[in-house]
Amino acid sequence: MAGTLRALGVHPSKRLGQNFLSDPRVARRIAGLIPDPLEPVLEIGPGLGALSLELAASGRPFVAVELDLRLAEYMEGELRPFPRARLVRGDVLDHRIEELFPGGERLTVVGNLPYSITTPALEWIFGQKERVGRAFLMVQREFAERLTAKPGSKEYGSISVFLALNAGVQNCFRVSPGAFHPRPEVDSTVLEMTPRDYPGTTGEERDAASRMARASMGSRRKTLANSLAKGLDLPGEEARALLADARLDPVRRGETLSVPEFVSLARAWIRRGRPGGGR
Ligand code: SAM
Repeated sequence: MAGTLRALGVHPSKRLGQNFLSDPRVARRIAGLIPDPLEPVLEIGPGLGALSLELAASGRPFVAVELDLRLAEYMEGELRPFPRARLVRGDVLDHRIEELFPGGERLTVVGNLPYSITTPALEWIFGQKERVGRAFLMVQREFAERLTAKPGSKEYGSISVFLALNAGVQNCFRVSPGAFHPRPEVDSTVLEMTPRDYPGTTGEERDAASRMARASMGSRRKTLANSLAKGLDLPGEEARALLADARLDPVRRGETLSVPEFVSLARAWIRRGRPGGGR
């Protein structure tokens, strides 16, 4: 692996999260989570293809999106023997699933996600959840804890709320740093995520509830009234009126609100004509 990287002139980039899977048993284990050989798969960041080749070899429709141009070029060659496999160059966040898989089918998303794009990649995937059957994503263990965190805990944040509104999450297994080159400092976790709508909510309410979570959890030590005023760019009085409408105590901290409480806040915000505007 080190030799291939040297030959390609690639020095693993921290910014792009380039810790490549070097243990073929882990790649086979992840591929084994998708037993149907014809299930279409989208891979985010194939790197040197440890997982891609396992997945494409069955002859399934397979698209991999890679941002690093040298790796993309290399992977184009590696995927050439598989007629239903395709490499797309660029930032996955600049693409849409309908353009990568124009047939309208539901697909499985896989990826060993770089830390720097974990949050936007999850928003990208579950923002198009009508096209996603499920996702198997490897993330840093600490990040996995944030994704399933409960209100009031240190790990709970707006991405926990976003995911609870849009997906079910299950731990599959843990992967130790020794399975990668170069070796990262922390363990990783493979998660299975299945799109689902938080019960009793509309798409508009879920989007607004995510917005409320981002606005209220931006500054941890502030009261809910203050952080909401700042996050939505509202006068304090208007933020307090919004909270009164949602029957929420303005001196609580944003990070103590449960998902149903963010939904109530979102409904009050929609009822009041979306003060502060935006999505
Ligand atoms: N999947 C490979 C593996 O497991 O060995 C590589 C994983 S490595 C952690 C992350 C990969 O994602 C790298 O190849 C990196 O260049 C690529 N990448 C980083 N940001 C990306 C983005 N925004 N869009 C597409 N690929 C990206």
